[in-house]
Amino acid sequence: MSATTDIIQAMRNSGFVLELAGDRLKVRVPPGCPSFYKYLLRNRKSEFIAALKEQQAEFAQPTELSDTERGLLIAMGLHWQYSADDWAQLWSDCRDHEQRANWLRIAESEQPPAPKQGDTELAVTIRIEGNFGTGRMQFDMGVPLDRWNEQKFSEQIAAMPGATWWQLDQPKRCADCRHAQPTQHTALVTCGAGREDYPACGAFWDSDPKPCNQWAPSANTHGQTADNELRNAR
Ligand code: SF4
Repeated sequence: MSATTDIIQAMRNSGFVLELAGDRLKVRVPPGCPSFYKYLLRNRKSEFIAALKEQQAEFAQPTELSDTERGLLIAMGLHWQYSADDWAQLWSDCRDHEQRANWLRIAESEQPPAPKQGDTELAVTIRIEGNFGTGRMQFDMGVPLDRWNEQKFSEQIAAMPGATWWQLDQPKRCADCRHAQPTQHTALVTCGAGREDYPACGAFWDSDPKPCNQWAPSANTHGQTADNELRNAR
């Protein structure tokens, strides 16, 4: 924040209204305002105008990507096997209205063919967690079974900085989950994500595999790794 922005904020807090009308500065002065502010307004008008223009540009930043838009961009990046630099460039471009619209147009035209009827029941359901342009978040997607290649997918996600993934439709253990809360019994945990369908003992056995839509890898498990271990153990 610049010194002028700080002054503008202080003036607004004191009851000033400072706005731009095109390139002109419009000011409503509160009664009894300090003469110091009047002096600033007279002598630093161009700095006030520049700072207000900057604020306008910030407010005009694109809104958060919708899930559909984010999905289109992720599908495109995975399809073209983006490198870490490509992902960083894509999310950075998405902060600009025009570039973002261009990317979305490209992603739309490169969409993989729509799943055939009946394919949806045969899709692998994936959750990806990472930084997708506007902060850390989770994103779910379905991949038709005939296009699913776990090793390739894993390699592609590895190029997304800080991202991890797991299959939602595979059983999960509380022992690998960041939401598990310890209890006095070493093998029993409660759920910090709000699940309360505990068995009669009042908590979950931490190594019991179960379907769980809220599972998320703990700090010492890494997305799909936990499932691989589970599958190998069976
Ligand atoms: S979110 Fe699911 S896997 Fe994680 S602790 Fe709760 S019940 Fe267990």
